[in-house]
Amino acid sequence: TCLVLFLILFSFTSFTPAPQKAPIEKRIEDLLAKMTLEEKVGQLNFVVGDLFNTGPTVRTSQSDKFNDAIKKGEITGIFNIHGAEYVGKLQKLAVKESRLGIPLIIGADIIHGFKTVFPIPLGESASWDLAAIENGSRVAAIESTAGGINLTFAPMVDISRDSRWGRTAEGAGEDPYLGSLIAAARVKGFQGKDLADPRTMAACVKHFVAYGAAEAGRDYNTTDMSEYLLRDVYLPPFKAALDAGSATLMSAFNELNGVPATGNMFTMDQILRKEWGFKGAVISDWQNITEMVNHGYSKDHAQAAEQALRAGTDVDMMGEAYLKFVPELVKSGKLDQKILDESVRRVLWLKFRLGLFDNPYLYSDVKREKKEIRSKENLAAAFDMARKSMVLLKNQGNILPLTTATKKIAVIGPLGNNKADMNGTWSFFGEEQHAVSFLEGIKKYAKGAEVTFAEGCDLYTNSTDKFAAAVAAARNADVVIMAIGESAVMNGEGASRADIGLPGVQLDLVKEIHKTGKPIVALVSSGRALELSWLGQNIPTIMATWSLGSEAGNAVASVLFGEYNPAGKLPLSFPRHVGQLPLYYNIKNTGRMYEGTHSEPGSERVYRSRYRDVPNTALYPFGYGLSYTTFAYGQPKLNKSSIGGNENLVLTVDVTNTGKYTGEEVVQLYIQDLVGSTARPVKQLKKFQKLSFAPGEKKTVTFTLNASDLSFWRQNMTFGAEPGDFKIMVGGNSRDVQTLPFTLTSTSI
Ligand code: BGC
Repeated sequence: TCLVLFLILFSFTSFTPAPQKAPIEKRIEDLLAKMTLEEKVGQLNFVVGDLFNTGPTVRTSQSDKFNDAIKKGEITGIFNIHGAEYVGKLQKLAVKESRLGIPLIIGADIIHGFKTVFPIPLGESASWDLAAIENGSRVAAIESTAGGINLTFAPMVDISRDSRWGRTAEGAGEDPYLGSLIAAARVKGFQGKDLADPRTMAACVKHFVAYGAAEAGRDYNTTDMSEYLLRDVYLPPFKAALDAGSATLMSAFNELNGVPATGNMFTMDQILRKEWGFKGAVISDWQNITEMVNHGYSKDHAQAAEQALRAGTDVDMMGEAYLKFVPELVKSGKLDQKILDESVRRVLWLKFRLGLFDNPYLYSDVKREKKEIRSKENLAAAFDMARKSMVLLKNQGNILPLTTATKKIAVIGPLGNNKADMNGTWSFFGEEQHAVSFLEGIKKYAKGAEVTFAEGCDLYTNSTDKFAAAVAAARNADVVIMAIGESAVMNGEGASRADIGLPGVQLDLVKEIHKTGKPIVALVSSGRALELSWLGQNIPTIMATWSLGSEAGNAVASVLFGEYNPAGKLPLSFPRHVGQLPLYYNIKNTGRMYEGTHSEPGSERVYRSRYRDVPNTALYPFGYGLSYTTFAYGQPKLNKSSIGGNENLVLTVDVTNTGKYTGEEVVQLYIQDLVGSTARPVKQLKKFQKLSFAPGEKKTVTFTLNASDLSFWRQNMTFGAEPGDFKIMVGGNSRDVQTLPFTLTSTSI
């Protein structure tokens, strides 16, 4: 028996291939050396699966249509599919039946959760809670990797200063500092510590770059901007995401200063690769390589392929331009084979880092899929995030929180008893029947109180037929909760709006209900900053509720009934009028600051940059948000009035909870550089802290700044600070701040 055992053991060890120990670089070069031109190009071709949205149930067809292409090595991966078992089958085809056995990338738009849906990214950003945001992406990664996905097309980090742009919903708002911190948090959440851990996935930061600056807020539209603005405002969140380790990046649809982003040598090659040293794969957006022809930049798809690959766009999403034209471009000598090889290396590197070569079935664990998806913990995290995302904009007369004195509640409005719109834009995978409606949540929390519902009107159309029933319901109630705003498809991709008020006849409905004289709480859902001027003037209580995801109704009710004290702050300015857009807090002064002196007798003309009919300011400014409690700020103090070199400036301010509820406050610090070699904004967020206070509790909040926090792109296009006079401002939003002066005497940067 000993001999038999020995022989078995011997044969096992001698015939089992040795575990792959060679460094990844060596394994990539070995593989590259074996690849045909066509196989190389196949590694750059990314295709979409069949995703059907069939109303209440979102499902993915698990078709075989790519089987041949996989076997031939014509595709690098498939996106917007899911299912551990299905993905396992596809990987098996790739690994066992293609010549070189290269595993597939399985991508998807995991933007704010998978089956457990979190608030839309703009909503999450209103929490100013980086740990919670990171955890949201963590949960999304855990669930979606269990569902077979190993790369997400997220985070979207495009700065948006114009809420007509529908994709404002997917970003972190208008500020580059807040946006950068959130970008990094999301990347860390998706990617975890080790990409080869099957509970983590590759991030793909998008859309590079300036996509959010689309003229007139019209999606995909032209952008034209100075290099200063690009570098000071639009690039920082990308840099932050890459510094946090984002494995990949997506190029944008727009052209920038005349050159489409996908073929833009300045942004893609000079900045991204040369200045920032990004080594990961760049993925095009959907067909945006071939769209360079539509832009009027490339003469045909072959030229577009050449320009995009040269600029460093490694992967062609849905364009097939690489597949069709790159082999010939290389054979004819028009495109250096080295450029192609470099892109293939980056893609292979990603697959190695994801652990796919060592175990192609890492993301195909059916047992894990069952266990992780919509688990109790995941739903609890979505609930927590939804509560943190809401922003209380007005609470006149302290109608909220509701007390047991409220015996009759009327829920009125098209979003009141609605599941379909709770998940919001980009939630392919979340099934709407699982979303908790506002009505369900309110009924659950309204212990003893009678809750009635009237739709009042629908989200878009102009019918007022249901107004009368809604008015009757209001008359019979102690308080009216109005659930109004945008449907899920009114924001997101391709969903720009020229009028950003309440859609359809919703405002008319609010006015009718207002006439009843009943106290109204307006829950306003949107994927952008809405124009809420009439509401702001007439309705006592307003709360921004974005699209809150799976747990929407529970989270809303938890806030309405005071189980949770709202603490969100706006990540973007809410305008008084759509004509103010683009609107943002970090504006610059103009030369014309006179008030009154130049007006002509009898006319209202004032030679100052302003409108005759609407103030310049926001209705609700950046950083704004109320609580059920109140906070008092003491006099801020600085440790010194000037700093030089690497010295720290320390600001301290006492903040006290002067109300009767425990609550959180986001203490915000802004600066203004009074004179710059390029004129500086009047305010820039530089630090913030979110802190919790018991009733009556006072905390001394400390912020430390140095010259690096004062840096910007100077006139000579170098990054650094300039000595001179500054203002430092502290407060609970970007408008209501206290100001102190200080001087930067010298700097080494
Ligand atoms: C969007 C991207 C998205 C891609 C894949 C495009 O239309 O612009 O953000 O990742 O589709 O779904």
